[in-house]
Amino acid sequence: MTTVPGARQAESSPQSTEEFWGSARRHLIRYGPAGFIPSIIERADGCFLYDESGRAILDFTSGQMSSLLGHSHPAVVETVSRSIATLDHLFSGMLSRPLVDLAEALSRTLPEALSKTMILSTGGESNEAAIKMAKLYTQKHEIVSFDQSYHGSTHAAGAATYSLSRAGYGPLAPGNLIIPTPNPYRSVFRDEEGAHDWEAELDFGFAMVDRQSVGSLAAFIAEPILGTGGLIAPPDGYFAALRKKCDERGMLLIIDEAQTGLCRTGDWYAFQHQGIVPDILTLSKTLGAGLPVSAVVTTEEIEATCSDRRFMFTTTHVSDPLAAAVGLTVVQTLEEEKFDATARRLGERLRQGLLDLQNRHERIGDVRGRGLFQGIELVMDRETKEPADNFGTAVTAACFELGLHLNIAQMPGVNSILRIAPPLTIPEAALDSGLAILDEALTIARKRG
Ligand code: PMP
Repeated sequence: MTTVPGARQAESSPQSTEEFWGSARRHLIRYGPAGFIPSIIERADGCFLYDESGRAILDFTSGQMSSLLGHSHPAVVETVSRSIATLDHLFSGMLSRPLVDLAEALSRTLPEALSKTMILSTGGESNEAAIKMAKLYTQKHEIVSFDQSYHGSTHAAGAATYSLSRAGYGPLAPGNLIIPTPNPYRSVFRDEEGAHDWEAELDFGFAMVDRQSVGSLAAFIAEPILGTGGLIAPPDGYFAALRKKCDERGMLLIIDEAQTGLCRTGDWYAFQHQGIVPDILTLSKTLGAGLPVSAVVTTEEIEATCSDRRFMFTTTHVSDPLAAAVGLTVVQTLEEEKFDATARRLGERLRQGLLDLQNRHERIGDVRGRGLFQGIELVMDRETKEPADNFGTAVTAACFELGLHLNIAQMPGVNSILRIAPPLTIPEAALDSGLAILDEALTIARKRG
């Protein structure tokens, strides 16, 4: 074996816990404000993770909201094993059967208009492609989103992201605009009875957009339920009105279902609940159920126009057969086992459990979400609704000590909202024990002050 001069030889014996963390500190780039969770996860199976001591940790975040079928679902394991051995990766211009089968399977689950698909790897990438398509199709460049949005870390997706820090990276593409997120719990737009006046809020938002626009509105990109921004479900009727605003301005509507797509909310797609059809749909996290698979789906007309204009998005892994085979297995498993109904049933159980906790813990100000995509907002006082950020950090930590991982956006400033999205395969008993741990953690965190 040749060696690089000066390179250290790989250690052959397994590292001790201290050596592991020493090595992690020396060699890893830190990428998130909250840092790394101080546990070595050795194994994941179903809805449980196992750390170095063999301790089981219930996974209420489905990894990074992706492991929709739990960890190492047998059908996914079988597909990956078969594909890696027989058809793994190809030249970007080559087609394979799993790819075409996945495109067909997705269109079977979608409204007829959404019939054209491209398979990519990550969520940011799918939004990047969707935004490029919208610009090419409309021949305009302005992109509007919610002020609590999250669409990815890549350039155009990041430019349309407002829930996390935008500071420190220099100029973004010009032409990114926002409207207020319609948050029924916190919106300042209220009618005379104090109810959320989302129509006034939407009108206000678009009046601001029209003032700021340089006359080049290309698209609105939205999560149908905002995840990272605080598990915020816009009120029923909101998206139909938003669709109208877009149509009036010749803008496309891009719906990003990274977290909500593929049965999690009790519908196949969360946009269905709002009775609208987007012009472009992006899917990611849940499509790979733990593996990097994403999709852009659009209409025949948009695809044809973009293709005529030489749409270009040739990534290394576009149309990869292995990724497509995984996506196909996920879609087929969801269809065969009717996981939309499962998410509705278990979601109701989760919701009832959270409402029950709200009755007993005064710091739970709000319970919200749909299906197995729920959240609680913690407040210092239900009247003032002052966010209980430190308390949320303490609850998240106490849950982890007790064997439950929840809260997807763990970082200072957003910890008052605990986001919960367990795998759709979770047994009822595990769901109940997660709720029991959360109950205990709320009590412990309160005692700790
Ligand atoms: N869109 C939404 C709604 C997301 O929640 C995320 C990830 N949190 C992304 C896009 C980006 O996906 P990825 O991290 O796979 O690029």
